Amino acid sequence: MTEIGDQETRVPASHKKNEIDYQKDIDRFVRVIQGALSNVSVPPSSTVVPELDPSAWRPNNESQMTITNGRNPFQEMYNNLPAEAVTRCVGGMSTHWTCATPEFLKGEERPKIFPEDETVDDDEWKLLYEAARNLIGVSSTEFEESIRHNTVLDTLKKAFPKRGIRPLPLACHRLAKGSPYVRWHAADDVYYDIFDQSLFGKPNSENIKRGKFFLLTNTRCTKLHTSTGSATENVHIGIAEVMDLLADRFSGTPSPKPVNFAIRAKVYVIAAGAVATPQILANSGFGGIREQASELVPALGKRITEQPLAFCQIILNQHIVDNIGKLDDKPQWWKDAVNAHKKAHPKDPLPIPFQDPEPQVNIPVMEGFPWHAQIHRDAFSYGEAGPRADSRVVVDLRFFARQEGDSKNRLVFEKGVTDVYGMPQPTFEYTPTTKFADEAGRMMKDMTDVANALGGYLPGSSPQFMAPGLALHLGGTVRLGQGKELLAETEHLKKKDKASSVANFNSQVWNFRNLYVGGNGTIPTAFAANPTLTSIALALRATRHIVKALQADPTGDNLKAATPDQKLEPTPRGYLNWLRDKNDADFPDHEALRTPHKEVVVNAA
Ligand SMILES: Cc1cc2nc3c(=O)[nH]c(=O)nc-3n(C[C@H](O)[C@H](O)[C@H](O)COP(=O)(O)OP(=O)(O)OC[C@H]3O[C@@H](n4cnc5c(N)ncnc54)[C@H](O)[C@@H]3O)c2cc1C
Repeated sequence: MTEIGDQETRVPASHKKNEIDYQKDIDRFVRVIQGALSNVSVPPSSTVVPELDPSAWRPNNESQMTITNGRNPFQEMYNNLPAEAVTRCVGGMSTHWTCATPEFLKGEERPKIFPEDETVDDDEWKLLYEAARNLIGVSSTEFEESIRHNTVLDTLKKAFPKRGIRPLPLACHRLAKGSPYVRWHAADDVYYDIFDQSLFGKPNSENIKRGKFFLLTNTRCTKLHTSTGSATENVHIGIAEVMDLLADRFSGTPSPKPVNFAIRAKVYVIAAGAVATPQILANSGFGGIREQASELVPALGKRITEQPLAFCQIILNQHIVDNIGKLDDKPQWWKDAVNAHKKAHPKDPLPIPFQDPEPQVNIPVMEGFPWHAQIHRDAFSYGEAGPRADSRVVVDLRFFARQEGDSKNRLVFEKGVTDVYGMPQPTFEYTPTTKFADEAGRMMKDMTDVANALGGYLPGSSPQFMAPGLALHLGGTVRLGQGKELLAETEHLKKKDKASSVANFNSQVWNFRNLYVGGNGTIPTAFAANPTLTSIALALRATRHIVKALQADPTGDNLKAATPDQKLEPTPRGYLNWLRDKNDADFPDHEALRTPHKEVVVNAA
C-alpha cells in the first residue's frame, strides 16, 4: 500500500485527538484540523489582493495568477466547493474525524445493492453495517455519564418527542467508566496489528496464515498502466506506477531525478479519498480529464454529491443550567460529581465539573426530516468557543442536508495544470439542485427551532450556511451502480458518456478485470448522514469479492471483468464472522489494541 503523506502519529494512523492536550481543551484541536486540510481548488481571482503595496511584485496580467497550492485558473467562484479539502498523512482524514458513524436510512439515503429483492438487500445491509460497526468500534453509550450530554438529550427528547433523538453513534471508547478521557478510533483500528512484523505468518481463526503487509509513506501512486493496450473491454492493470517523493537522498547524483518504480499485483484497489481516487484514475488516462476524447470510465467524477451544512452555537438556557444543580431527581453519579465539584471549586458559578464529557446528541434522518443533526460540542475547522463563553455551556448545532447527483455537477481534471503533488488539478463544477435545495431551507428552520429549545445564540455564531464542501462528505466521484444504463449504452456506443456509474456493487470498475475503488466517492445516493460507516460497509463487501475471485483463480491471470449482466451475490455471513462473533479469536478488541504511551525508548533490548 502506498500513502502520499507521512506518518504523523506515534501509532500509525491513530486519531490525533487522543492526545491529552486536546482532551483537556477541545478548542485547541480546531487548529490541528485546519492544519490537516488542504483546499482542493482555489479560484485565482480570490488570490488577488487589492490592498497590495503598489511597489510589490504583481503579474503583468493580473488574471494570470500563479498556480501553486491549489490555485486553479479553471475554477470559477460561483460553482466551486470552496471548503472541500484533502488530508495527506497515514490514516487520512480519520486522524481528525468526529467519529460519527450512523447508518444511512433505507428509502432516503441507503443505496440499493439488490434493487430487485428488498429482503436480500435489507439482509445484506444489516450484515455489512454490523460488521463495519464492530470493525471501527461504534458505541452509543460512552457519554451516558455526562451531565451535559444527558441535559441536552433529555431537553430535546421532551421538546421533540417524535424525532427519534438519541446519543450520536461514535467510533470511540471511554478509557474507563467515569473517566473524562476517551480513545477516538481511526484507521489504526482497521489496520489493527497488521504493521506488527512479528505477526507475519500468524494463522487466523480459519487457519489462513497472515501475509506480509508494507505501507510505503511519502509515496505517490501516480497512475495505473494496463497490460491490454487500447482494449476497452476486459481491461487488465499490469502495474501501478509509484514515486518515492523524498528519495532524492538515494539518487546518488548531484542532480537528483525522481525515483519512480512499479508495483505489480494481482488486484489493484484505489482508495485515496473522494478526490484523489478519481484523480489517480484520470491520470491513468481512463477518463475525467477536461475534453478527453475517449474515456474507458466515462462516469469518472460525474454526478458528484455534497452536503449543505447549517451551523450555529448556543449558550444553554438559564433554567436548563439551574436544573443541573438541582440534585433531588438526579442519579447518584450525577449528585457525586456536582457535589465534588462544588466542594473543590466553591467560587465556580457553574454546577458542571470542569471535565464533564461533552454532549454528543443526534437527530437522525427521518422521513419528512431528511437531514442529519449533531447537537454536540466538538472540534471542526471552525466553531471554536474561545474566550467568548465557558465551553461547558456552549452547544454546537450542525445540520447536514443532502444533494442528489445531478449530471451537470462534476469534478473534472485539468490537462497541463497540476496540484502541488504533480497530479492533474481538480476543478469543481457544482451548483445545488432545486429539489434538494428546498430541503436545506426547511432544515435551517428546523435547526433554529432546536436551538431555541436549548438556549440563546453565542455572539458571532448565529445560524448560517457554511461554505459548500465544508462537511467534507463529497460523494459520487467513483459511484457504484447497477450498470443498467451502461448495458443500454454498449448497444448504443455513441451515447457512452451517459453511463452513470464507475463500478458495480462489488466496487469493481466496469470493464476492468482487476481494478477496485473504495471510499465515500463510491456512494451513489443523496445522503445527509456521515458517510464513512457506509463506505466501510461497501469496502467489506468488495473484499469478499476480491478474496473469492483470487481463491478461484490464485494466479490472477483469468479474472473476469465487471459487466452489468453479472449477477451479484450477497456476502456470506460466515465471511464476516470475525466481525460479528465476539468469541471469534479475530474479533477486534478496541480496548486492548493500544497500550498507553508511558516512556520514550529508543533501541530497547
Ligand atoms: C473535521 C472532519 C470531521 C469529520 N467527521 C466525520 C464524521 O463524524 N463521520 C464520518 O463518517 N466522516 C467524517 N469525516 C470524514 C472522514 O474522515 C472520511 O470520510 C474518511 O476519512 C474517508 O476515508 P478514506 O480513506 O476514503 O479517505 P481519506 O481519509 O481522505 O484518505 C485518503 C488517503 O489517500 C492518500 N492519497 C491521496 N492521493 C494519493 C496518491 N496519489 N497516492 C497515495 N496516496 C494518496 C491521502 O494522503 C490519504 O491518506 C470527517 C472529516 C474531517 C476532516
